[in-house]
Amino acid sequence: MSGSYTSALAEELARDTLERFLRYVRIDTQSRRDRSGSPSTPGQLELGRVLVSELMDAGLKDAQLDDNGYVIATLPGADGGANGDAIGLIAHMDTSPDAPGHGVEPIVHRSYDGGVLELPRDGTVLDPAAIPELVPKTGHDIVTSSGDTLLGADDKAGVAEIMAGVAYLAAHPELPRPTLRIAFTPDEEIGEGATLFDIERFGARCAYTLDGSELGELQDETFSAFEAVLTVRGVEVHPGQATGKLVNALRLASRIVAALPPDLTPETTAGRDGFIHPHELSGTPGKATVRLILRDFDDEQLDRHVALLERTAREVVEAEPRARLDVSVREQYRNMGSVLRQVPEVTDAADAAIRAEGIEPIRRPIRGGTDGSKLSAMGLPTPNIFTGGHEYHSVREWASVQDMAAAAAVVVRLAEVWSRQGAAVRRRRPSESLHG
Ligand SMILES: [Zn+2]
Repeated sequence: MSGSYTSALAEELARDTLERFLRYVRIDTQSRRDRSGSPSTPGQLELGRVLVSELMDAGLKDAQLDDNGYVIATLPGADGGANGDAIGLIAHMDTSPDAPGHGVEPIVHRSYDGGVLELPRDGTVLDPAAIPELVPKTGHDIVTSSGDTLLGADDKAGVAEIMAGVAYLAAHPELPRPTLRIAFTPDEEIGEGATLFDIERFGARCAYTLDGSELGELQDETFSAFEAVLTVRGVEVHPGQATGKLVNALRLASRIVAALPPDLTPETTAGRDGFIHPHELSGTPGKATVRLILRDFDDEQLDRHVALLERTAREVVEAEPRARLDVSVREQYRNMGSVLRQVPEVTDAADAAIRAEGIEPIRRPIRGGTDGSKLSAMGLPTPNIFTGGHEYHSVREWASVQDMAAAAAVVVRLAEVWSRQGAAVRRRRPSESLHG
């Protein structure tokens, strides 16, 4: 085994994982906001068809692309799937609309020397001084884009790792495994990955997304998330005749933004602290709109952020009796922590699988959400596992081949852990299996 691989298994899986990854990133699967159907873009169906055919080649005969663009497949358990519950593996096929995603030309930089990586287009550089995560990857094979697009490691690294791990298990029926259900979802980046996910049909007791970043990451807590839209209506009058009549909605909207607490922002908070983040201000003197996102790990604290926003907006607008204010708040996703705490064996199994690969798990809450945030709330407990990709949603996005291979190996280890754990649960609950 050569130095930078976490195990001989990872080294064995590296070539297949990388080849798949390089195939998938070349397909433009960028999702689009304000979709009119699922998936939001046809490229996602193209990747979906490739995955179905590769799953069938690996022996997963029921692989299928459904009408909404979800790829679903089954790898029956080593015992024919007769005993124990199915375990799910999930990754998303779309890439972010926030950076160019068409014409991705991946570059593999073999045996990274620890210096600045200069990409051929747009003067894009990956400088370890600005990206400290690169430093410990000296000696790794690093994949980047050509500098003018994202790479798509988010989340094609996860897709490739699940594919490589599952294909390996299918080719090694002697290895212990439960029944595995695989799902590749569309439109995660626009917050819709879980929307049309048929949990009933998926039929797993729990699942894992491979959609994290640094080697070893295991995440069972996400933000809870609201989106708020403030609409201010003023009185529009020609500026020449405006004296005493014009009420400028745009000024009022700006005043609301300026009145929000300066220490409750994404740029001034970290760790477990939440924020109120205005991300779009638009309008005319007649009507102005402020769009904001509100985030916290604690649901009550998040409710307090909402109350603070409403109070601030009301105070500003009520100072002008001729102006009107409309506030609409909608939930985007919930912290998965409250669901996962009730089924600790789910996160414990991933912890054990990562350790079995010789990696110390990194347990940090995600300052964001995953498909698993919504799926957990919908009844499918789904923590998140690392992929080895970094600098997501940017032209500097990169991934380590060795860390991607480690994630593929974790898929294989996870199957073994669940095969043991499932047997242990059945032994502990004989009366339940009798009646079950
Ligand atoms: Zn992602």
